Amino acid sequence: MCGIVAVSGNPEAAQLAYLGLYSLQHRGQEAAGIASFDRTDGESHRIRKPGLASDAIKQHDLAELPGDVAVGHIRYSTAGGAGLKNAQPIREHYRDGYVALVHNGNLTNANVLRERLLNEGALFQSSIDSEVIVHLIARSRAESVDGQISDALSQLEGAYCVLLAVDDVLYAARDPYGYRPLVIGVLPTGGLVLASETCALDIVRARFVRDVEPGELIRIRDGEIESVSRLPKFVAEQQPCIFELVYFARPDTRLWGYTVDRARRAFGRKLAREQPAEGDIVISVPDSANSAAVGFSEESGIPFELGLIRNHYVGRTFITPTQAGRDFKVRMKFSPVREVLEGKRVVMVDDSLVRGTTSRALVDMLHEAGAKEVHFRLASPPVRWPCFYGIDMPTREELIASARTVAEIRDYLGVDSLGYLSPEGMIDCVADQGETYCTACFTGDYRAPLVDREQGLPMESHC
Ligand code: SF4
Repeated sequence: MCGIVAVSGNPEAAQLAYLGLYSLQHRGQEAAGIASFDRTDGESHRIRKPGLASDAIKQHDLAELPGDVAVGHIRYSTAGGAGLKNAQPIREHYRDGYVALVHNGNLTNANVLRERLLNEGALFQSSIDSEVIVHLIARSRAESVDGQISDALSQLEGAYCVLLAVDDVLYAARDPYGYRPLVIGVLPTGGLVLASETCALDIVRARFVRDVEPGELIRIRDGEIESVSRLPKFVAEQQPCIFELVYFARPDTRLWGYTVDRARRAFGRKLAREQPAEGDIVISVPDSANSAAVGFSEESGIPFELGLIRNHYVGRTFITPTQAGRDFKVRMKFSPVREVLEGKRVVMVDDSLVRGTTSRALVDMLHEAGAKEVHFRLASPPVRWPCFYGIDMPTREELIASARTVAEIRDYLGVDSLGYLSPEGMIDCVADQGETYCTACFTGDYRAPLVDREQGLPMESHC
C-alpha cells in the first residue's frame, strides 16, 4: 500500500506535495513525510511524523521545507514494520549529494539484497525494503547518477514505484511489470507533479499528462522532463494490480485507463449477471463497495438503499475487544439503518472477502436490525493467495477462501446465499484494449519471482 508524490519546478513544492499526500490518505494512515531540496543553501530538509498527513505535518513544518523540488510519502501500517524509523522519505548523503527517496510497492528480493549488503558492511537504519535501494545507488560503480540509479533498480525484483531526488534533480521509476500506479501531471502554476493516483493531481489542479510506463526511468529538472530511459529487464506481460481497481484506489482516480468508479460499477453489473439474487434491496458495505453495489442495482433492477452507515471518524482506540464483544471494532465502524433493513430480503455487496470476520459481524448486525434474508455478493473472486507485491494481506491460512468451499464460507458467515464474481468476469470488465493484470491473490499466478521465499527468507509486505 502506501502513497507517494513528488513536485519539481515549483517554489511551493512542499506545500503541493502535502496536498497530494492529503488526497492519498486512503493509501495509509501510519505516518507521513516530505523531503525538499533548497538550492540556496544546498541543503536537504525533511520531516517525518506518525499519523495522518493533517496531524503529522503542520503549516509551520512546511515553512521548514524550502526549495522547488519535494518528495512525499504516506505510510500504511504493516505487521512488524511500524515505527518512525521506517517512515519515509529515506534521506541520506552520498558522494553525489543528498538522496531523498519514497517507494510504493514491495520488493521480493529485499532480504537477499539486504544480507549481501550487510555482509559488505552496509549499516541499515530501518527494516524497510526501500532502504536497500539507497544503498545500491550509493555503492554503484557507475559514474553518472543516472547510471547509479539504473544500476540499483536493475537489481530489484518485485513491485516498485520510486520517486527520488538527488539534490534538485528528480527521478521517477516504475518496475518493469508495472504493479503499482504512478502518474505525471502538469501544474497550472509551473512544474510537474507525480503521484500514485490521479486524485493527487486533481487536488492541486494539475493536468494529467500520462502514466510513468512500466520499466521507465525518468529524469526531471526544474519541472521539465530531461530524459526517459528503459530499465534493462524484459517482461513479457505487464502486471498492473487489479486489486487497486477492486478495492484500494479512490473511486475518482483514473487508473489503468479506467475511472475506478466506472470499473467497480462494471464489476457490480457483471456480478448481478453471473450471481443473481432474489432481494428487495441492494446495500453496499461502505465506502469501498458503493460503486459495485450501484452497478449490481442498475443491472438487477433491485433498488439501492443505504442500509449501512460508516463512521469516518473512527481513530485508534484503547477499548479492548473484551470490553464490548469480539465484533466491537465492526460496530464502531458501521451502523445499520433499521428502517431500511427491517423485514427486507437484503442483497449486501462488498468489494472482496479476505478474512471474513468483518463480514460475519455485519451479517449479524443486519439480522439484528430485522433483515429477513441476507444474500451476500462479492465484486471480485475468492482471495486465496497472499500478496507479495505491496498490498498488505493476511497469511494464506488466514484467508477464508484458501481452504474453504463457497458453501462452507456461506455457512460460516450465516448468509442465505453467497456469490463471487468469476476471475474471467472481473478481467472482462477492464480489458477493453486487451490489458493484462496481476491477479495472483485470486489465482496464485505470481509473475515477478518470489526470490526471498525461494531462498527461505521472510517476505513481509512493507508497503
Ligand atoms: S497479488 Fe493481488 S493485491 Fe497483489 S499485486 Fe497482484 S492483484 Fe494486486
